[in-house]
Amino acid sequence: MNKTELLIIGAGPAGYQAALHAARLGHQVVLAEKDQIGGTCLNRGCVPTKSLLEQAHQWAVSRQKADVQAMRQREQQTVQKLREGIAQLLQSSRVQLIPEQVSIADAHHVCSTQGCWQADHILIATGSAVALPPIEGIEQALTSDDVLRMEQPLPQSVILIGAGVIGMELADLYLDLGVQVTILEAADRCLSMADRQISQSLQMIFKRRGATMIFNARVMRIENHRVEYEVGGQTAVIQAEAVVVATGRRPVLPECEVRLKTDQGRLVISETMQTSVPSIYAAGDAASTIQLAHYASAQAIAAVDHMFGVKNQTDLKTVPSCVYTHPQAAWVGLQQQQAHELGIPLLTGKASTLSNARAQIDQAPRGFVRLLADGRNRQLIGGMIVGDHACEWISTISLAIAQHLTVDQCRAVIFPHPSWSETLQEALLDFDGLAIHTISTRR
Ligand code: NAD
Repeated sequence: MNKTELLIIGAGPAGYQAALHAARLGHQVVLAEKDQIGGTCLNRGCVPTKSLLEQAHQWAVSRQKADVQAMRQREQQTVQKLREGIAQLLQSSRVQLIPEQVSIADAHHVCSTQGCWQADHILIATGSAVALPPIEGIEQALTSDDVLRMEQPLPQSVILIGAGVIGMELADLYLDLGVQVTILEAADRCLSMADRQISQSLQMIFKRRGATMIFNARVMRIENHRVEYEVGGQTAVIQAEAVVVATGRRPVLPECEVRLKTDQGRLVISETMQTSVPSIYAAGDAASTIQLAHYASAQAIAAVDHMFGVKNQTDLKTVPSCVYTHPQAAWVGLQQQQAHELGIPLLTGKASTLSNARAQIDQAPRGFVRLLADGRNRQLIGGMIVGDHACEWISTISLAIAQHLTVDQCRAVIFPHPSWSETLQEALLDFDGLAIHTISTRR
């Protein structure tokens, strides 16, 4: 029988990064993947959507009709290049790839049709799949997987069900391609997991860009691109050339002959990423309520560190959330409501991008930065941004939170001019009413 120190199931951002990390630490690794390397993130998720979003935006800015075929081609080239890069890294790191579906036979054995492997440790990194809500006719709706194929001709109008991260990013894509967008959302706002200020800001911008947004909507039926829904006891019907559903994803688990504890279909894991069978670890969407590629990778690396007795250096509590719309939205750490619930006295610092030179040069819609600090010690505990490149400069706030830096320590940094991140500097100064580019209300 083949033996290995670590057998990983799934080569998405959790699985392939865990494989490379374990190999870098000098361990023997086998990686099983039944489909393509890179998982949902690289092949059907983060990477292709961001490529299409960015290209569609460039076309919109140029005011020319988008060449959708060229967009799709460039996106596929990008994905292929990255996939080949990962394959090369795995090969040069001597990670053995099993291009097959495998199942877990017991705490230390994984099998495929070709045979079995004995492993000291197993890591489940099998990700998630689109979840469809129980709506009559839902099978007629497109999913994000279908949208990414960008089959032509594009619809001229679309109804999006769900205004979460996927719904908002798809709305952004369609708006930039000149498609008429109507969004039906069950909650009372878009991005209901984010702070209200982020939702309000993006709602305002999306409405200005032409989207119709209907909240507190209960979708009842889909029939021939007609959607029947109810709001406040009133029933209404809307119609478009396509209906797209983006109401969440469900965990995908491998076949397993040992009983692993689950909760609502997710593997239950400890702080060390171990399932109820200690030699079997899990990371990413299969085990986490936070379904983000970067969190999946961080969890997977923490799992590898734990199994091989290495001290992990990542603060897994400080997880940035990023929405790649135009403008982008990003947040990290505690939100105001959570801080209130924990009884933390709050200090806030905020700044608008209105007086930011870079934002004006880019003729960008208005954004903002809002920071939260613990009133007892002035340590930063949360932050949010709406503005271009927010998903890049949110990391400055993440670092400050992870390192428990105070507002005053953060002020040690000189921010480049002109840059979007100067808004962060202004928000840091605003904690004490010292922001330079804000009309002072102090005497
Ligand atoms: P989500 O949970 O973020 O949002 C789903 C939305 O659909 C919610 O607002 C919910 O209220 C709404 N909804 C649910 N049922 C509904 C119904 N019947 N009618 C109308 N609205 C309904 O899920 P998602 O947007 O599908 O994304 C799935 C996962 O993938 C999320 O965890 C997300 O964070 C992740 N993701 C992240 C990124 C990113 O980081 N940029 C991009 C894409 C996806």
